[in-house]
Amino acid sequence: MAINQLQNTVTLNNGVKMPQLGLGVYKAQEGKEAESAVSHAIKTGYRSIDTAAVYQNEESVGKAVRESGIPREDLFITTKVWNSDQGYDSTLQAFETSLTKLGLDYVDLYLVHWPVPGKYKETYKALEKLYKDGRVRVIGVSNFQPHHLDDLLADAEIVPAVNQVELHPLLSQQPLREYCSSKGIYVEAWSPLARGGFFDDPVLQKIAAKYGKSPAQVILRWDIQHNIITIPKSVTPSRIEENMQIFDFELTPDEMAMIDAMNKDERTGADPDNFNF
Ligand code: NAD
Repeated sequence: MAINQLQNTVTLNNGVKMPQLGLGVYKAQEGKEAESAVSHAIKTGYRSIDTAAVYQNEESVGKAVRESGIPREDLFITTKVWNSDQGYDSTLQAFETSLTKLGLDYVDLYLVHWPVPGKYKETYKALEKLYKDGRVRVIGVSNFQPHHLDDLLADAEIVPAVNQVELHPLLSQQPLREYCSSKGIYVEAWSPLARGGFFDDPVLQKIAAKYGKSPAQVILRWDIQHNIITIPKSVTPSRIEENMQIFDFELTPDEMAMIDAMNKDERTGADPDNFNF
């Protein structure tokens, strides 16, 4: 596969194209850190950035995007409504705040960050309004289990285009992936590298050595071949570059199966059925 497939896109259920690889900016500090990471990523070819109101770096993300020199329509910006803002009116307000901080005219993808019990349906209704009003190009959810989606879909007018969930080889989310695929919902992996927690795994090490790649690149390649959208985070220029060099090799079906077999249903983050924030 050629390097120029870096800007590989998937077509979401409303026809909008989204880059399959993006930069995550959770814990990138507002100011120079977040701004430099986003500018470096865009300079080196990334076209998708994943932020959230709760990351408190939307201003820096927006500044880097606006100053990138890349036409706005060629970039794909995701942000999310935080739990304390859930509810219909408060979500509409939170959206305006995010848009102002970003300094943009629209957001590409707006997500319900967590399925806050008793609130996520009203929150999603606000997203539907934003979508119908043309303020966002795509709407979706995050950390939704199949039962949350069943509940949401019972009343939703618009099927979410994306469900962003924790996903990596130790938590491969196969049943959720099958469920989402049956509903036309793309799965997007957060913490795709499990925050660097298992790079010493012998299976990954062996596959990485074969291709002259790093374990991080092998994991991200596994995402790509599973048709998963992935958003590894880094603020280190060399790693930002490394994480996009994943379009010039291809894992064999056996190697894909070996990585699949690493699954332990092991979360590094909160459980969507039992979180307290
Ligand atoms: P990640 O799995 O992307 O890991 C990031 C960490 O891995 C980095 O801080 C760095 O320490 C290390 N790393 C990155 N590239 C590396 C490389 N090439 N070699 C060695 N180490 C490397 O973790 P994440 O930041 O939790 O997740 C990615 C993004 O997903 C976030 O930035 C955020 O945008 C999103 N996210 C969303 C939710 C949600 O609830 N929707 C939750 C967590 C994260």
